[in-house]
Amino acid sequence: SRESVKGFLKRNLFVLFTVAAVALGVILGFTLRPHNLSLREIKYFAFPGELLMRMLQMLVLPLIVSSLVTGISSLDSKASGKMGMRAVVYYMVTTLIAVFIGIVIVTIIRPGKGSRDSPVANSGNIEPVQAADAFLDLIRNMFPPNLVEACFKQVRLSLPISHIILIETVEETVPVSGSSAGVNALGLVVFSMCFGLVIGNMKQQGQALRDFFDCLNEAIMRLVSIIIWYAPVGIMFLIAGKIVEMKNLAEVGGQLGMYTVSVIVGLLIHGLFVLPLLYFLVTRKNPYSFIGGLLQALITALGTSSSSATLPITFRCLEENNRVDKRVTRFVLPVGATINMDGTALYEAVAAIFIAQVNDMDLNFGQILTISITATAASIGAAGIPQAGLVTMVIVLTSVGLPTEDITLIIAVDWFLDRLRTTTNVLGDSLGAGIVEHLSRRELQSQDAEVRNSVIEE
Ligand code: ASP
Repeated sequence: SRESVKGFLKRNLFVLFTVAAVALGVILGFTLRPHNLSLREIKYFAFPGELLMRMLQMLVLPLIVSSLVTGISSLDSKASGKMGMRAVVYYMVTTLIAVFIGIVIVTIIRPGKGSRDSPVANSGNIEPVQAADAFLDLIRNMFPPNLVEACFKQVRLSLPISHIILIETVEETVPVSGSSAGVNALGLVVFSMCFGLVIGNMKQQGQALRDFFDCLNEAIMRLVSIIIWYAPVGIMFLIAGKIVEMKNLAEVGGQLGMYTVSVIVGLLIHGLFVLPLLYFLVTRKNPYSFIGGLLQALITALGTSSSSATLPITFRCLEENNRVDKRVTRFVLPVGATINMDGTALYEAVAAIFIAQVNDMDLNFGQILTISITATAASIGAAGIPQAGLVTMVIVLTSVGLPTEDITLIIAVDWFLDRLRTTTNVLGDSLGAGIVEHLSRRELQSQDAEVRNSVIEE
């Protein structure tokens, strides 16, 4: 009937806008492509998209801190402990599954078989990184010695100097449009969690701080509701700009083409089958209608290739469309956006094994295991910013003695794969929030009852 059509349109207005924005962006991009715009012209043209990136990134820091502090301080420490455990188990299990899928796919498709397409310059001797070093670095990053610095400076993994130089070269060749390397999110997440836990236990004394962060969080979410009106415009220009700028994809054939296909197939299996199945098995609810509510966040991830920039939108989708409990989203989403990157882990494994195949190197079981572990670590350590995964690849490659220069083999398609893996990352975080909510329903209910009782007592 007309009423229900109207209701549907109203409810899905933003989704419709966003989908239309993608379509328009694609059309606009392909219309302008033949005009061979200069790089400067493309930059001007894509400016509205750059603005969206900046607006979203602007909100990330206060959003992560305020949502984690309020989320955790509003739960009793036992409940947050349980919820945290569930989230971490979910993150680990799904990341390992993603790595496994990646390894199986790349072993079956063998995109790197045959002689190499392009010779590679050997850039001298690079000391191998031990997997243990990568882990230590990860943990170091959790404890920023200076909180203020952690707000604007990402801590470099403390690798040997030769690796730092290499990482910087990779970053330079990667044109990251308007993205600041940004925040040491991992450090801030750990700090905010501990801080929330402490002020949650401070009873009356902590009330002022709890109110402050609660209010801050509310204010930030209101800013998100304003920015969201601009999001479709920004997404349109982000996509159009990229299409105008990109190299001719038709030229990407041969090994690189098959490599791209391998990553895509892996991401599709993981995102469209494995994760939804897991969600269904745990909650017995329809995963695809849950995913439907996430559409806007997924498209934003596709447009921005940054899970942390997408975070504000992910919050909105989960809370407004899918009605996930705020105590859960505030807790698990910022953590998920920072450490849970299924798409990145899958891609790291595929890329490393692809490079081994190109070099005619047969990996033994131990080496494949090392790749699984370091790919997981690299995905946890990668920041939620564009192409961060390409940079942490260095760790995976060196851990099994693969030539790091070969990263150049995959740079050409990385911007594209980055968008897809970011979308998978956001999907994994969101389904995780749904799963953790379901598993924690008992604690949440008893917390509700407590609050009700204390209100009656007063
Ligand atoms: N761009 C990805 C993200 O933000 C990280 C990566 O490069 O894999 O989730």
